[in-house]
Amino acid sequence: MKKKVAILGSTGSIGKQALEVIRQHNGSFQPVVLTARQNADLLIDQAVEFLPPFVHIASNDGYLKVKEALAGLPVEILSGADALKNIIELSAPDIVLTAMVGFSGLQPTIAAVSKGIDIALANKETLVVAGSLITSIAAETGSHIIPVDSEHSAIFQCLAGEDASSVEKIILTASGGPFRGKSIAELRNVTCKEALNHPNWCMGNKITIDSASLMNKGLEVIEAKWLFNTDASDIEVVIHPQSIIHSMVQFRDGAVKAQMSLPDMRLPIQYALAWPQRLPSDFPRFSFSACSSLTFETPDTAIFRNLRLAYQALNEGGNMPCILNAANEIAVDAFLSDRVGFLQMPEIIEQTMQKVSFIANPLLNDLEETNNEARAVAASLIRNH
Ligand code: MG
Repeated sequence: MKKKVAILGSTGSIGKQALEVIRQHNGSFQPVVLTARQNADLLIDQAVEFLPPFVHIASNDGYLKVKEALAGLPVEILSGADALKNIIELSAPDIVLTAMVGFSGLQPTIAAVSKGIDIALANKETLVVAGSLITSIAAETGSHIIPVDSEHSAIFQCLAGEDASSVEKIILTASGGPFRGKSIAELRNVTCKEALNHPNWCMGNKITIDSASLMNKGLEVIEAKWLFNTDASDIEVVIHPQSIIHSMVQFRDGAVKAQMSLPDMRLPIQYALAWPQRLPSDFPRFSFSACSSLTFETPDTAIFRNLRLAYQALNEGGNMPCILNAANEIAVDAFLSDRVGFLQMPEIIEQTMQKVSFIANPLLNDLEETNNEARAVAASLIRNH
């Protein structure tokens, strides 16, 4: 029996790599849903190759194009936000890979978790924004949330066979990004082109900027709290520029387990899709003889303030991580289009966190309102800066 996989965001970086994994293991997996925001051409190519029963495209122009190109094939083409929620029910997947960018991944993820379907979670905003809500629904329905993010996959792998109560500390590694070691003065005039030049990972634009600003690590700290039910004070971030150790777990007897491999997202994607099995791969292997040193540093949160803001949001709880995430999406967007500088991003986020109304126990509609309000506040801060 092939595992039926719904890929939300199949034309993005994670989605494309997931289809590479599926291509290598086409006896194990069958895509039943592919979705894209606007890349109609690639979605058409993917649909022709994999013939999923359903595809979804958000853009109107894209919809017409896809419909025309796939006419005569056994593929149903859908568009619109409601259809995206319903598609999970229609396609009855065994696992949903959530690889959409940003807040848009939340609704379909909740739809799948509510049905007890396993999630291969690649959209980190989902748990950042609604970690409390989603983990409590998953506990009720029995849906497993299997992380795809390389750090959380590493922790998940280190925890296999271990009792949760024996964990003392989670150690998230961070590459430090292209600006590691730079001073405030040096960061003042860095460009988005420089920020997009990541030393180890090739990823989408949003996450690459988040990686340069350490917001990516901040979001991952919040994500780790919900995935592994850990206090913020038991999650430590360590800079490890080689990105060979993808994260570690320290146990209460002092033992530390690390998961290591060359940086290649196909590995955690494949692990999540195949879990609880481990499938073979021909990905390049790490060579101990070719790598003479692995190094570690403490992150400088006085310079990379986003990491401190993320811990602050996690400690304040409620809708604060949602505010942080929304303000960050707007700030990154403004940085990518040269409307704000690199160092203004944390300023915008911090001020938005101060201005948006705090809700201690937000429901889904509160989070949607918070998201809209925080985005509007951050946008107005950018206009008036
Ligand atoms: Mg990561």
